[in-house]
Amino acid sequence: MHKNFKNIEKTVYGRGSFDMMDEILSAKRNENEQFFLFIVDNYFKDKPLASRIPAKSEDVIRFIDVDPCEPTTLQIDLLRDEILSSKGLPAGVVGIGGGSIMDIAKAVSLMFTNEGSSTLYQGLNLIKKPGIYHLGVPTISGTGAEISMTAVLTGPVKKLGLKCEWTVFNQVILDPELIASVPNDKWFYTGMDTYIHCIESENGILNNAYSHAYAEQSLKLCQEIYLGGQSGRTAENDDKLMVASLMGGMSLTYSEVGVCHALSYGLSKILGEKHCYANCLAFRCLEDYYHDGVNEFKQMLIKHAIQLPENISQHWTDEQITAMAEVAYNLPHMWNHAVGADWKQKISIETIKGLYRRL
Ligand code: NAD
Ligand code: ZN
Repeated sequence: MHKNFKNIEKTVYGRGSFDMMDEILSAKRNENEQFFLFIVDNYFKDKPLASRIPAKSEDVIRFIDVDPCEPTTLQIDLLRDEILSSKGLPAGVVGIGGGSIMDIAKAVSLMFTNEGSSTLYQGLNLIKKPGIYHLGVPTISGTGAEISMTAVLTGPVKKLGLKCEWTVFNQVILDPELIASVPNDKWFYTGMDTYIHCIESENGILNNAYSHAYAEQSLKLCQEIYLGGQSGRTAENDDKLMVASLMGGMSLTYSEVGVCHALSYGLSKILGEKHCYANCLAFRCLEDYYHDGVNEFKQMLIKHAIQLPENISQHWTDEQITAMAEVAYNLPHMWNHAVGADWKQKISIETIKGLYRRL
């Protein structure tokens, strides 16, 4: 009945806190084969941050291009198998990047100790053993992947997280300096993931005083960052956005996401759209579910000159729309929260197809 959530064990926050990593890792280096696996967004390959990674000669650094697709089960299995066969079991995993890298680091940490393919563990509490130590350093803010107890993976059958207590990071380093280089459009889409998390968390039957307190504060920060007189790309707003992302994640952990995320999962699974962008595509068409939130979102679009494509559904076949509706329908926890326990009497595959046709 009641959620019993394991939080991040240790969190360091502040400008320049990235440089505490060496000290933090040194205490963990004596475990297993004593080396660390660093999984780093390819964006940083030739950037100054790469030279600040406190890697020793025995460590492995993998730069991963996250743009071709969201993390897959196959990608995790291959990475795990390759490291185990060439180097053995690491002392820990460090992920430096956005939600994609956070999820890869969390998933591979679990898969180092759980046999077989990660497809076996997509779902709630299917993981059998704790993973190895893992540390996350977000470099783009909004998804809340740094705090959540899930590592979202796309498999051959479903897009679903490895969700359990052991997924949560042992340590995160929140250094707002790292998000300054995010391009404007990604800054907007990923930040809006937080905004939408809060709106959805607030609007549903699972909302409660605990989730509300986090959503309220996170929404206030989002409004200052994206709408207020001081809005835009400033250092102060980067400081706020990192905290908003964390709090949005906390809010939905104690509540739930809703209609927008259900539609977004369909767009990602069937059309390969990225999570945060897909949310933005869906959210602006959901005025009847989230009236005030959608209106405010539209003001933010205008303020930051973000243009989303119009009438995209006219290019989709009925088969694609049906397939997306099936993905969305099969997320009962989201519909339950957003529409109510009797959601099946109100929402059918046809209803959801109608929602996709609005896009
Ligand atoms: P991302 O990790 O996919 O990265 C988006 C883009 O930003 C990439 O091109 C990346 O190279 C670039 N980038 C990242 N940091 C940068 C920086 N500092 N400067 C310049 N460019 C930078 O982005 P995301 O939106 O944070 O993550 C999306 C992923 O997160 C999806 O795979 C989604 O499924 C997942 N997700 C997970 C959870 C969770 O709870 N685990 C929640 C929501 C979404
Ligand atoms: Zn989201």
